[in-house]
Amino acid sequence: MTAPNLVIRSRRVVFPDSVSAASLHITGGTITNIAAYETVPANCELVETDDDSLLLPGLVDTHVHVNEPGRTEWEGFATATRAAAAGGVTTLVDMPLNSIPPTTTVAGLQEKLAAAREQCHVDVGFWGGVVPGNTSELAALAAAGVVGFKCFLIHSGVDEFPNVTENDLREALPELTRLDALLIVHAEVPGPISRTGIPACHVDPESPSSTARTDKNVCPTEYATFLASRPRAAEDEAVALMVKLAREFGARVHIVHHSSADSLPMLREAKAAGLRITAETCPHYLTFAAEEIPDGATEFKCCPPIRERENREQLWSALKDRTLDMIVSDHSPCPPEMKLRDSGDFLQAWGGISSLQLRLPIVWTESKRRGYSIHDLARWLCSAPAKLVGLEQRKGLIKIGHDADLVIWNPSAEFKVEASALHHRHKLTPYQGLTLSGVVEKTFLRGRKIYDSGEFVGGPSGRLLTS
Ligand SMILES: [Zn+2]
Repeated sequence: MTAPNLVIRSRRVVFPDSVSAASLHITGGTITNIAAYETVPANCELVETDDDSLLLPGLVDTHVHVNEPGRTEWEGFATATRAAAAGGVTTLVDMPLNSIPPTTTVAGLQEKLAAAREQCHVDVGFWGGVVPGNTSELAALAAAGVVGFKCFLIHSGVDEFPNVTENDLREALPELTRLDALLIVHAEVPGPISRTGIPACHVDPESPSSTARTDKNVCPTEYATFLASRPRAAEDEAVALMVKLAREFGARVHIVHHSSADSLPMLREAKAAGLRITAETCPHYLTFAAEEIPDGATEFKCCPPIRERENREQLWSALKDRTLDMIVSDHSPCPPEMKLRDSGDFLQAWGGISSLQLRLPIVWTESKRRGYSIHDLARWLCSAPAKLVGLEQRKGLIKIGHDADLVIWNPSAEFKVEASALHHRHKLTPYQGLTLSGVVEKTFLRGRKIYDSGEFVGGPSGRLLTS
């Protein structure tokens, strides 16, 4: 065996089923041996954690909108991946939309790769997109290394990434199934949203049932108005459609940012029936409650929306019984003026919450008060997302043969969220001022320290994961 060039050891290494003392022997960026704590070869660089800190696998975040090229002023690879490193995230997967061009063609992917090159502080993978009429592009995109394909069942918020209908999916799904490619779905359909009669942006105004009621008085600065405009039924109908199509085509389907508790039984049954369906939820749905969101506080706007307290607790229960498989950020930033904080108009503000850097302490703070373990945390944030995108042989676990992507993390240290400490390009956050548990001390990417106590170490060494 080649001698390791680095040993990272801790009394509290987080393995899938235990937290135990170990020395991780690292050679060329890979974990090549897991040895007793005392086993440290001579002449080998040694990093050790203090007794309060855990050694966790690097986090994997499969739902990040980087928005570069084309809307780099919204975020960009340099700022997104620095925020990731500061949050213990060593792999992120970029969404195919909001960038211009979107990643719906191989040419679009090539432009994105060119933009990302030499900028990334962590490893970055890429989703492709399914839009009406691009079925012929899917095989080439898969061959070029996208990890799967995203579609919307409702207006995406940007016109260059149009949503699909059931008919479009009936065209794309045979090809996706032939490729054994994963389809991830923004699961809201327009019908129930139009029927609320609340004039929200980006929803089909031609629906006859909506025009009849748009004259009623709505107060766009009240959170309750926005919540009423995105009812659970929109998600429930979308999930029902995707369960039906997953069954009919034998397709691999994943529901992104799941929020409605009312469709959890449907997902539970679909999984029990053996359908290839998975689902994620996000930190904001697990932290906040609609009843507590102040009027005009558009930093809380995202789609689907943050729902009631009772809904939130049902999402937690669904994580327990594994109806929901993972928690990813849906980091979706925009310039602060697009959040319309001055007018506080929920109906017109951009929907999206930025939490790439904060996912670990947010989820830990909320999960430990509900009795979840560090193993649940590691599964939701590391191993399950890695598996979703086919990276489970290299990422998401502390295991021999895996990349030495590691986080030294103190779960009991507390900090107050201050926008100035965020490395996202834009700092507006609904988490401002919250006290969270769990401080990321150091982050290692393939054995190389990239972040240490508030400082970034070395230049961008992230790889683009397209093979
Ligand atoms: Zn998203």
